[in-house]
Amino acid sequence: MIKLVCNTNKFYKMTRKHCCPRCENKDIKMVKKDKDGKQHYYCYVCRKNHRRPYFHDLTFTVFHGKKLKTEKIIMLSHYFSNNDSAHRTYKTSMRINNKVSLKTTWKYFKLFREGILKFQSRQPLEEKHWEIDEIYISFRDKKHHQATKRKLRGKSVTPGRGTELKTPIMCIISKNRLDDQKKRAIKTIPLENLSSQYIKEKIDFEIGLSNMQIVETDEFPSYKFMGKVALKHYEVNHKKHFVNHRTGANTNIVENFNQNIRYYFNVYRFCDTENIELYMNEIIYRYNNIVTENDILKMCIMN
Ligand SMILES: [Zn+2]
Repeated sequence: MIKLVCNTNKFYKMTRKHCCPRCENKDIKMVKKDKDGKQHYYCYVCRKNHRRPYFHDLTFTVFHGKKLKTEKIIMLSHYFSNNDSAHRTYKTSMRINNKVSLKTTWKYFKLFREGILKFQSRQPLEEKHWEIDEIYISFRDKKHHQATKRKLRGKSVTPGRGTELKTPIMCIISKNRLDDQKKRAIKTIPLENLSSQYIKEKIDFEIGLSNMQIVETDEFPSYKFMGKVALKHYEVNHKKHFVNHRTGANTNIVENFNQNIRYYFNVYRFCDTENIELYMNEIIYRYNNIVTENDILKMCIMN
């Protein structure tokens, strides 16, 4: 029998508390550890003010007030960092004799994704040289299931190779890596239509047109306005070649990132269109970083 050995001391090391989370006073003492491995504390000031004096490692974090054991939370973060799907972790958890139901794995994976989103939204985008491209993805949400029902009646409306029932997503990626870290600044924007006016407004809202100084795109007609907005706008004709011989313009970095999106959506299988931002942010994080369980737990606990 395999058994995953979890260090339940982990939360104590990450969130070693020097002050009370309720009153922010340093007059506290350590009390004891419970069976779960959580360190408990006692606050003297809260005792005087007739509040709850006791608190532990996970009070006022994302995992506050949840019944799941810390051992299981750490196990779920381990499989999440290995890029396993929710259904697969549910099956492996049964095999290790440490069972977690399918609904709770969905719930906790969403918590981890929200932690990543919270962490990533703080990073500023100060780049001037960009590549732009778009990709079509079928999210397989409720619309997809309705389409499969309609097929039974005689109409074939399932997402195949065409662009119907798929949502276009525009990817904007920086040509240069950010200094000191080997990361790129990336923005993904789901589009409702492909008119150049709509795309212009979206780019202005997300990044700002003043930051678009040098831009490289393919010969899609909606990107023509970039010639007026940006200082320099290079184009590649993908029917002829991948790199423009005259100017050296190419969109190969975005094409690589788009293939990453395809790969990760094989793991998710189903995705609600409301949660596009969560999933996209996770993909950007996985593209830029090597994912470990400690980093994910830290991002969730951080305020
Ligand atoms: Zn207190």
